Amino acid sequence: MTEIAGKVALVTGGGSGIGRGLVMALVDEGAFVVVVDLLEERANDVADQVTRRGGTAVALAGDVSKREDVRRIKAASNDALGSVSLVFANAGVTWFDRLTDMGDNDVDWVLHVNLMGALYCMQAFLPDMIAAGDGHVVGTASIAGLMPGWVPHHTPYSISKAGVIALMLNLHQELKGTGVGSTVYCPRAVRGRIGESFQHRPSRFGGPVDRPLAIDREWSTNNAVPSLDPEEVGPMVMKAVRDNAPVVVDHANQRPYFFEHYVNHVVAAFDEADAWERAHPGPQHAGPTS
Ligand code: NAD
Repeated sequence: MTEIAGKVALVTGGGSGIGRGLVMALVDEGAFVVVVDLLEERANDVADQVTRRGGTAVALAGDVSKREDVRRIKAASNDALGSVSLVFANAGVTWFDRLTDMGDNDVDWVLHVNLMGALYCMQAFLPDMIAAGDGHVVGTASIAGLMPGWVPHHTPYSISKAGVIALMLNLHQELKGTGVGSTVYCPRAVRGRIGESFQHRPSRFGGPVDRPLAIDREWSTNNAVPSLDPEEVGPMVMKAVRDNAPVVVDHANQRPYFFEHYVNHVVAAFDEADAWERAHPGPQHAGPTS
């Protein structure tokens, strides 16, 4: 059971949407929060909202896709509020296009922010948390990472989020016995501004994108679900932190899609392998030997 009250927490992408919801849930539980965002004004705005709510937060600008920025953020957090023991690697961006229509910058931007950004945070913060024997790390993935190929024209995003799921589940195993827990959060639809992220793409990834997103409107209409408020999902994630739950999802009605688009494919492949082994008996297919 991880305590939240009195701890120092850090939320990347904390200046908007889900990140803001996580910040508010942490503050409501009595944590002191470092709000990190690429856009300084967003981080400042959320830190001001925390102050008005009666909590404590500091704002830090930084780009999680740069390892040196993540190291600088860690040092600045320590200076401002002390050692961080709850880390929410939540910053993310999106772009819709066919992979073959995307340029190198489009692909690199999404993968570097969503996947490498989460990985850099884990590398930067976990050693101190393990040494202290206390804490919890959360990565925000997506339902798109649980069901690769479900959302059209979303390949690098889906790859990045499948990677975040793998990152956090590997850590869940690696961290056993250290006193540090890990959770991966897979949102489906939460109100936020990720659809505007292309407007703020940093210059080293080519600057703002100047062509329309290739969203499949028919698919979007057919698969629409009501979006949750970020302040609804924050407490769900806090419960998972306390319980050291490996995975959190926020739309229970996505379960049949997960079976249809992922589980059933893999089960069918195991059935095929089973049939193959029965048809081709031999030592290479024998079960484990004692
Ligand atoms: P949002 O755009 O509202 O908030 C994300 C924040 O991250 C923004 O303030 C942005 O400035 C910041 N950011 C972008 N690049 C950054 C960088 N390089 N370094 C630091 N900060 C950066 O988005 P959201 O909808 O709240 O999404 C938050 C997370 O949840 C993302 O990882 C997203 O992929 C994931 N997600 C969201 C939904 C949803 O429905 N909103 C669904 C699935 C997954």
